[in-house]
Amino acid sequence: MADNAREARPAGNSRRRFLKGCAAAGGVAAVAATGQRAEARETLQRPPEALGLLYDATLCVGCKACVAACKQANENPAEFSTVDKLWDTPLDTSGYTFNLIKMYRNGTMQTKDAEENGYAFMKTSCMHCADPSCVSACPVSAMTKNPQTGVVEYNADACIGCRYCVAACPFGIPKYQYDSPTGKIGKCELCRHRTKDGHYSACAEVCPTGATLYGRTEDLLAEAKRRLALKPGSVATFPRGKLGGADQSYEAYVGNYKQHVYGETEYGGTQVLKLSGVDFEKVGMPNLPPEAAAAHSETIQHTLYGGMLMPLAVLGALTFVAKRNVHHDDDEGGADDKTGAARKGEE
Ligand code: SF4
Ligand code: SF4
Ligand code: SF4
Repeated sequence: MADNAREARPAGNSRRRFLKGCAAAGGVAAVAATGQRAEARETLQRPPEALGLLYDATLCVGCKACVAACKQANENPAEFSTVDKLWDTPLDTSGYTFNLIKMYRNGTMQTKDAEENGYAFMKTSCMHCADPSCVSACPVSAMTKNPQTGVVEYNADACIGCRYCVAACPFGIPKYQYDSPTGKIGKCELCRHRTKDGHYSACAEVCPTGATLYGRTEDLLAEAKRRLALKPGSVATFPRGKLGGADQSYEAYVGNYKQHVYGETEYGGTQVLKLSGVDFEKVGMPNLPPEAAAAHSETIQHTLYGGMLMPLAVLGALTFVAKRNVHHDDDEGGADDKTGAARKGEE
């Protein structure tokens, strides 16, 4: 028993020494290889002709026509959350639900767009970020940002199902089709497949109140700022469908807006913009800084892996430490042999 313990000690020491050596050598190599100061790259901007949506929660009546139209446009099946399974009742976005209207409720829920004793709606779908984390995280470029329209597009043929995009998105948008043996990622692509037939986003096309409006993001931002400058409770004209398209405008009361266009600056800016009468965090929109995380993560990656310096330096350091420790072990093995032989002699 005591012999066993004695024999185990040198191996444990070697292992500890090896690991310590690796850590130290790796650290030295890392410092040497990444000697230059890491500065985050600039957050990417929306392309000038970026397309997007403006969702105005104060105009939304919660009819969910946009949810149904989105399903139809993307040939997605119904999802059920009720026992009777009579109609499409998804509780959240999924691999088969790319657009959802969620509801905020407080107290007696008497007043629309009021935080206290009120209720409000909020659209959940891809924000088409100017500098998208999903694109940055995808190792095989299955997620890409169209350089002209800025639409964040998904290529199922290139996708390897790693779901890095799912983890990277700050809005929790890309979802995987877990129930399918050939699962894909599901998310809004701004109905890009419909434009060749002269259509645009189905959710905006069908929205009866213009709460979801399609257009160039720059024009949508100007429209959002026009609304914020209107007097709450006054009557104003609101466009429907496509901004700059056929005139479908109508008159409605101006909502009591929070003076904030969500998506103008959040996360480096998004191509889907939002207006609300209720605090954005309360209706489920995350409070994000003006810089995109992709700018930081890519800087770290490129600093560490630039020119493969870091991996090569670490590999070299590990090889050196491993070789040195192998020599030590031989020496120690010799000593043990001698001890063993001596012991044998004693016996
Ligand atoms: S179709 Fe328009 S009004 Fe109806 S839920 Fe969707 S965004 Fe709201
Ligand atoms: S909202 Fe998420 S999925 Fe959509 S572009 Fe931004 S990071 Fe990608
Ligand atoms: S643009 Fe198309 S895919 Fe995106 S939410 Fe609207 S209907 Fe759905």
